[in-house]
Amino acid sequence: MYSPRKKFDAVVVGAGLSGAAACCNLCNIGLNVALVEALPLSEAGAGWINAIPEKSFFDHGLEELDPAILAYKGGRYIVQSGQQKVFIKETPLVQIDMKRLLGALHKRAEKLGATLFDRCRVVDMKFLKQRPTGIALETRKPGSTPGILNLEASLFVDASGITGAVRRRVPAMARFCRGPDESHVCNATQETWTVADGSGLKNFMEKHGIEPGDTIAWTGVEGGYSTLTLYVPAHMETLELLAGSINLPRYRPGASILRDFCKQQPWIGRLVKSGSGTIPIRRPYDILAIPGLALIGDAGLQVFPAHGSGTHSILTAAKILADTVSPRADPGGERSTWEYQAGFQRKVGAVHAVYDLVTRMTINNPASTTRALLENAILGPDQLTAGLCQELPPVTVGSLFKTFTKLGLISKTGPLTVKAPLVHALYKAYPSKPDMDALGKWSRSVALLFSEDPDIL
Ligand SMILES: Cc1cc2nc3c(=O)[nH]c(=O)nc-3n(C[C@H](O)[C@H](O)[C@H](O)COP(=O)(O)OP(=O)(O)OC[C@H]3O[C@@H](n4cnc5c(N)ncnc54)[C@H](O)[C@@H]3O)c2cc1C
Repeated sequence: MYSPRKKFDAVVVGAGLSGAAACCNLCNIGLNVALVEALPLSEAGAGWINAIPEKSFFDHGLEELDPAILAYKGGRYIVQSGQQKVFIKETPLVQIDMKRLLGALHKRAEKLGATLFDRCRVVDMKFLKQRPTGIALETRKPGSTPGILNLEASLFVDASGITGAVRRRVPAMARFCRGPDESHVCNATQETWTVADGSGLKNFMEKHGIEPGDTIAWTGVEGGYSTLTLYVPAHMETLELLAGSINLPRYRPGASILRDFCKQQPWIGRLVKSGSGTIPIRRPYDILAIPGLALIGDAGLQVFPAHGSGTHSILTAAKILADTVSPRADPGGERSTWEYQAGFQRKVGAVHAVYDLVTRMTINNPASTTRALLENAILGPDQLTAGLCQELPPVTVGSLFKTFTKLGLISKTGPLTVKAPLVHALYKAYPSKPDMDALGKWSRSVALLFSEDPDIL
């Protein structure tokens, strides 16, 4: 059954955090927006606890949406590798209930006048020359026959997660957005468990030097890039666990790491909530928009690579998107979409790209390298705090070189030290005006520093 065409300024595909945040921000600047989701709306996106910088939580006004989004706040943050521990006295992160956040954003989107379509999956796209102008969605409402919904818009926003449901169907974009390959994807699981035996938990905490309210992150549990993080709320009745590793068969995925950990701790009780997924941990695609289409969130690889955190950069990207399209008659026009990608790459991409180098160093080196960095205070509280806040660390290249040479680590860490400032400067010089030749050149320079093929061939 075909429906008549419906026209919007913007159609956002995916109602996870990226889509919900982009939709609200685009409505806020007066656009007529449709938000489309494949699942029932209540099941869209992340349903677990995410940690984000506290500053980001307040800067993006999340407490005003619903104070209960803030699940946990405060406590120490401990990073441990082998026997080596580094303590951050007060965590710079807060933990947020993603289900509540998404529920609040969906409600806000409706209040702001967005049209929400759930149980709708993209099946086809329509183009004028290379620019997407329409989308066909298969609708599957329980108890009714499947139908087709046709939506037209000036701007399509792909917020469909790592698989990029729209991106893949737009040839002018798909050819620049390959991968990410599995070595740049993290397989993660977050779970909430009850505590069955409080004295067992107390013994465990004593043994590991953990206090109520602490977060402890054991790094390198599966070699190089992997972690098991435990948060013990002050009430000590439940636990928050997160584990992740590279999405390759030789590493146990997050779910197995957690299963084995829980098996070894008889004081852990019942599973309350669990969520799993794959997270891109590569710097953003070199191209994030073309006329008529913008990528946001996991669909554009806008995730902080060093710990696979998408929330802060998604909220920032949604703001940049609304700031850049606001004054235009054609929200998906070439200038708007270019300004969005240039704005993101210069502000956030520059930091993500530097941490992509750090991530590759941890993937390619044994866990003992990270241990040596912790032992020698190269990864001390200030550097780790900067990493958790998704900011550049307070170090100079000269001092790093000296320390790495002294420790005999220069062969492992030297390339990072040389490349990081170059990568950062390159992202700050992302072409500011629509110019595919300049972008091609830029992409080739980035590829050279990352020793891989350029996104824009
Ligand atoms: C276990 C785990 C723990 C994490 N922990 C943290 C953390 O502590 N801090 C942090 O900042 N980040 C964390 N992340 C990452 C963060 O959760 C993600 O980056 C973020 O949720 C991605 O949001 P998104 O909206 O881009 O994509 P998604 O959440 O994947 O949403 C995409 C939406 O699009 C819909 N969709 C897909 N295809 C179609 C289609 N064809 N048509 C219509 N709709 C479609 C999907 O159903 C889904 O609802 C974690 C991720 C995982 C997996």
